[in-house]
Amino acid sequence: MDDGGVKVFTGFRVQYNDARGPSKGGIRYHPNVTLDEVKALACWMTWKCSIADIPFGGAKGGVICNPKEMSNLELERMTRRYASAIADFIGPYRDIPAPDVYTNAQVMAWIVDTYSQLKGYMVPEVVTGKPIPLGGSLGRDTATGRGAVFCTREAGRVTKMTLKGASFAVQGYGNAGSNYAEILQELGGRLVAAADSQGAVLSKKVIDALKLLKHKEKVGTVVGMPGTEKISEDELLRTECDILVPAALENAITKDVAKGVRAKVIVECANGPTTPEADTVLDANGVFVVPDILANSGGVIVSYLEWVQNLNRLRWTEEEVNTKLEDKITRAFSDVHETSQKEKVSMRTAALIVGVGRVADAIKTLGLWP
Ligand code: GLU
Repeated sequence: MDDGGVKVFTGFRVQYNDARGPSKGGIRYHPNVTLDEVKALACWMTWKCSIADIPFGGAKGGVICNPKEMSNLELERMTRRYASAIADFIGPYRDIPAPDVYTNAQVMAWIVDTYSQLKGYMVPEVVTGKPIPLGGSLGRDTATGRGAVFCTREAGRVTKMTLKGASFAVQGYGNAGSNYAEILQELGGRLVAAADSQGAVLSKKVIDALKLLKHKEKVGTVVGMPGTEKISEDELLRTECDILVPAALENAITKDVAKGVRAKVIVECANGPTTPEADTVLDANGVFVVPDILANSGGVIVSYLEWVQNLNRLRWTEEEVNTKLEDKITRAFSDVHETSQKEKVSMRTAALIVGVGRVADAIKTLGLWP
């Protein structure tokens, strides 16, 4: 640590399944990380990559720490130690990490450097979500939000909801949530409420998504945004709006919260934001839920595009990347929606039918050996 002391951090890397290709998934830095959480996230990554039909299995990593209380140098030393500990288990053809909650392109750069120093040559393709000069892909930083907006457009099409003028509330104003808000706003959506770990705000009229991000960058929270009033997180989740976007952590929408949800559509930018009990309530109340493993797959889809560019020494324009993302995620949405119509099940069950089904097919055709 900066004060000369030594601190022990516990970290994990879970590889859940690699039948369809090298395992793939982000690394999370958070004080509440547990091994069970990382296992669940790695499991969801498996179905997510399968639904998106990208040739990856599922993995996830996490370190128990509070990056908000650590200096940049402390974060760098911890990251390099973690990277060297997992170096034997990751690799461009084995398991490819990426950013997740409270990690970013800089953290990926430290992993590239640590891994490459150990190998003796540069291996930028060992992680995705890198800074652009190190082989990061244009469009990766906005990909999770953009993909979720494409899913919202498709959800609008099947539920007959027009995006122009649609009101939406975002819980979690980080990478996924803030990019979602900006991009949906460009299509005519009206942001009416937003929350982060410090609190939530509501506007009787509309909140400018970009100005809100600038405010958060300046003061560290969405709270205090001019023209808004402070509300509780619970009130945000029950806000009167067309689209509710949980974009923070797991289990935000519990059974109790679900009973009060007034949105017509939920787009899960976060992983696992809805408990199974809440899901039953939402289903019974006719809320159209775009499940996490479909809604937030834009991030890993563009991670795949980054990996393809790296391995082929290609550089695509942002437009090319966004078009490929749109194509992949729209196809994934329609695969899941068709299954939900055919099997008469919710979008979540349909997503699992598609995701688990493709992995099962891969395992069956691979056979058992030795
Ligand atoms: N952490 C992101 C997710 O949960 C991205 C993973 C990746 O790009 O590998 O989907």
